[in-house]
Amino acid sequence: MSDVIRLSAAELGAAIKAGEVSSEEATTAYLDRIEQVDGDIGAFLHVGRQAALEQARAVDAKRAEGAELGPLAGVPIAHKDVFTTKDMPTTAASKILEGWQPPYDATVTARLREAGMVILGKTNMDEFAMGSSTENSAYQLTRNPWDTDRIPGGSSGGSSAAIAAFEAPLATGTDTGGSIREPAALCGLVGAKPTYGGSSRYGMIAFASSLDTAGPFARNVLDAALLHEAFSGHDPRDSTSVDAPVPPVVEAAKSGDVQGLTVGVVKQLDHKESTQDGVHQRFQETLETLESLGAKIVEVSCPSFEVALSTYYLIAPSEASSNLARFDAMRYGLRVGDDGTRSAEEVMALTRAQGFGPEVKRRIMLGTYALSSGYYDAYYGSAQKARTLIKRDFDAAFEKVDVLVSPTTPTTAFPIGERTEDPMAMYLADLCTIPSNLAGNASLSVPCGLAPEDGLPVGFQIMAPALADDRTYRVAAAIERAVTERDGALIARSPYAV
Ligand code: GLN
Repeated sequence: MSDVIRLSAAELGAAIKAGEVSSEEATTAYLDRIEQVDGDIGAFLHVGRQAALEQARAVDAKRAEGAELGPLAGVPIAHKDVFTTKDMPTTAASKILEGWQPPYDATVTARLREAGMVILGKTNMDEFAMGSSTENSAYQLTRNPWDTDRIPGGSSGGSSAAIAAFEAPLATGTDTGGSIREPAALCGLVGAKPTYGGSSRYGMIAFASSLDTAGPFARNVLDAALLHEAFSGHDPRDSTSVDAPVPPVVEAAKSGDVQGLTVGVVKQLDHKESTQDGVHQRFQETLETLESLGAKIVEVSCPSFEVALSTYYLIAPSEASSNLARFDAMRYGLRVGDDGTRSAEEVMALTRAQGFGPEVKRRIMLGTYALSSGYYDAYYGSAQKARTLIKRDFDAAFEKVDVLVSPTTPTTAFPIGERTEDPMAMYLADLCTIPSNLAGNASLSVPCGLAPEDGLPVGFQIMAPALADDRTYRVAAAIERAVTERDGALIARSPYAV
């Protein structure tokens, strides 16, 4: 079992294509692994054993008939429970959607199904993707495989924990303010937030529509690129989807050539005071590594990034308050108090009071306030103006540099419960990731070492202009190669490595 699980997704896909391993064998190995360790980790909300085995056998049968398989055909995957799946429940980790079985697939899940990928199950997350630790799930805690007393990051923490515990080789996530890059960093994985509009939002339960982006999680850069390529590209069902070729991310991941590249270090994102020493240290070392590989390192100032966090916490809740209005007790899942004596409004109020958790309610209230007529200009209006300034700071920076970099998160994974009573402390986990969501550009986190003080993974963030996602993979591949040469494969040091 562990032999198959140890393979990268690229290797596994190649082995299935060559007939050295069957998809059924690989799928069974992962399903058994989930049975063995998910009691400790809590990554999955739903596992679809029978359906997964049927999909795997179908790929094996296709191969036996002589069909040419794609690079990820037969490879298992876990989906964040925010993507609709026509054969599995989808809850966004909310009680309001408990037991909801969508009648259709999200474009991301549909495309990966067409690519022959086998769906293992659906992963835990912060309710409606609001959070940075997965502690806001209405169902269960998810633990970080590097230290099970710590959080796996969020909101896509089930996806990151599943891969770090070798319960899946690949997973999907969504990133509205950092929800792929932050958990990837805290679990020692590669996680990418594609250019906004580069991956489809169709069938992804909406949190903040102008920011929500689907992206890949993997244990290495090439695997992430293969997944990125497999679900990306124009989708007429998403009005904000970009009609442009998918950036050559796989080619970039294979190259890793950074010779002559100009790398800008964002002054506002590496505060010595708020960044953990070990994170700062690994970040600085990685800059030296890039320099030794032929990149030019310069400092860049993006003054408006200072207000990115507050801008995000007006825009995201405003959009959420509008998006979540659809959970009206009539159309989906939960319905409370509908005994024939109450009005529709009363049933709606009871259902929303019981169905939404405290963080979701906080966001709805914040957003409703920011959009209310007397305060619209002061809050939502000013936030939109600040968003434009942030975009302009990026544009000006990208005239001088090819990529911008920062630590992905100010600290390594924090203990379970440490920040649940303090929303501001929780929000700060996304200090460095939020600017890219507001500007809509491409961004990725790659592991750059372990922090000396706690032995936990540190993420290095690479940001590139919109539709230049390949640059983030090129730089990440260079870093991955150098770190592996120096320390060996980092993920192999996770206590749950096979
Ligand atoms: N942690 C941020 C929030 O709570 C970002 C979440 C996300 O990217 N989905 O809003």
